[in-house]
Amino acid sequence: MKLGFHVSIAGGISRSVERAHDLGCTCMQIFSRNPRGWTVKPLDKNDIAEFKKARERLEIAPVFVHTNYLINLASIKPDLYEKSIEQFVVDLERTEALGAEYLVTHLGSANGQKEEWMVDRVSDAISYALKLHPPKATILLENTAGEAGDIGYTLEQVREVIARLHDSPQVGICYDTCHGFAAGYDIRTKNGVDALAKKISDTVGLDRLKGMHLNDCLRDFNSRVDRHWHIGDGKIGLDGFKLLLNHPAFRDVPKIMETPKNTEEDDPKNMKVVRSLIT
Ligand SMILES: [Zn+2]
Ligand SMILES: [Zn+2]
Repeated sequence: MKLGFHVSIAGGISRSVERAHDLGCTCMQIFSRNPRGWTVKPLDKNDIAEFKKARERLEIAPVFVHTNYLINLASIKPDLYEKSIEQFVVDLERTEALGAEYLVTHLGSANGQKEEWMVDRVSDAISYALKLHPPKATILLENTAGEAGDIGYTLEQVREVIARLHDSPQVGICYDTCHGFAAGYDIRTKNGVDALAKKISDTVGLDRLKGMHLNDCLRDFNSRVDRHWHIGDGKIGLDGFKLLLNHPAFRDVPKIMETPKNTEEDDPKNMKVVRSLIT
């Protein structure tokens, strides 16, 4: 089973590969730049070459790149909306320059707007970006927890966006277990995990499920609050993760943990817990 973490790119993007390998990752996720700023330093050619070499040597695949946090593809504000599309394209180009397989993006938020308006807004943004830069990498839409103003907290909404992109083969999904749980997809029981597999199959299709974010949830089921927690220690719990990890629909999907890193021990412990649940 492909397992990994979101790892830091401090000291250069190529350094992230070693970091992931040391944690026992067989896949990984990174930001390609500072996720909380607009300024972009061009990628360094040597860094790219080193990154690719290290990945091959340490057999880490696939690589997920996560978009910048300032991007909001559903923004009501015309200037931020435009800037978001432009910066989304920058992230897409960087993902491809690195030879990474996937670019993960949230769908965006627009407080006070109707669901349908937001679906339109996001679809238009991505559609425009695809015209500016026909992608080689696959764009993965990530389900959200459904915090105030968020779009993409139901799989039907995600399906609708993909439909409006004419079912482009360059678009898939990354399912976040914490977000899903907070938004009302219960995976604490076998029935719940079966229902989630069926829901994904009936909406976006299991073939579009290219990655999962494996996170426990600190807050209650259906709380609509996005707070990631250590695997097994949150409200989903060990039994839920055991059922999910071993479910035939999810077994072969690469999984990335975005669990808290408060101490050096956190990542190794989460990896150990997850591995112990695989039967
Ligand atoms: Zn996530
Ligand atoms: Zn989250």
